[in-house]
Amino acid sequence: MTSANAILAYEPFIRLSAFFGVFAIMTGWELAAPRRTLTVSKPLRWFSNLGLVGINTIVARLVLPLGPVAFAGLCANNGWGVLNLQDWPLWLEIIAAIVFLDFAIWLQHVMVHAVPILWRLHRLHHADLDYDVTTGARFHPLEILLSLAIKFAVIALIGASPVAVLLFEIILNAMAMFNHANVRLPLNIDAGLRVLLVTPDFHRVHHSVLPHETNSNFGFNLSLWDRLFGTYQAQPEGGHEGMTIGLDMFRDPVEERLDKLITQPFRAPIGTGGYAINRRDWPTHSDKP
Ligand SMILES: [Zn+2]
Ligand SMILES: [Zn+2]
Repeated sequence: MTSANAILAYEPFIRLSAFFGVFAIMTGWELAAPRRTLTVSKPLRWFSNLGLVGINTIVARLVLPLGPVAFAGLCANNGWGVLNLQDWPLWLEIIAAIVFLDFAIWLQHVMVHAVPILWRLHRLHHADLDYDVTTGARFHPLEILLSLAIKFAVIALIGASPVAVLLFEIILNAMAMFNHANVRLPLNIDAGLRVLLVTPDFHRVHHSVLPHETNSNFGFNLSLWDRLFGTYQAQPEGGHEGMTIGLDMFRDPVEERLDKLITQPFRAPIGTGGYAINRRDWPTHSDKP
């Protein structure tokens, strides 16, 4: 058995163990030390958000039976991609691939905020009226397919190895649950961690109802990209407990129903809400008190 085949054989077990392990830890942490009081029915939101996880898993498997890790193996066998043409040590290739993949999904995240038709898909993630561990998995199936297509293109371009892609998927999944969790992290620990990583307080700013806060802190894993490209906002203006989570255009809790989530991208005129970056109406400094 080659190393790529060995990774593929254990991939479902490794990924599921990591998912349920981190989910259990974050859920317990949310109960023990919550950051905010939730505002809408938790069973309703959890049913919808976790229902999307089930739908997305099935849709992704049906449309692209070959997952990203197997695709990385295909690229390696054919010598596709920059890293497959280099003779670097494996550890260096893994780090380079993970950092580049993280940059690519940061750029993709900026793009889905900037292009109105893509914002239609992505705004589902932002329409959650609360912010907890399940928000991190709340994406429309069409956005999941778009993300997969982009991920495949990036893997082929850089020649990421199967082990790098598997590690990236596990890290991204775990970090999405960590940084969406409704947990209270001591401020000094948050300050230390966010020098390098995206923390719950860092990403919560991105779920603010205020457009200039929604359009900041696009990072998932490394906090570097927002600092480097000028989209970093340290804290929400309303404070973490006082800020409003969600979007102005979807405030009715009935919008949290699973069927409403699926149809949400196809409702409301495209310019409504003024959120996409090129349609926004940001406050000017003179508007502020
Ligand atoms: Zn976003
Ligand atoms: Zn988010």
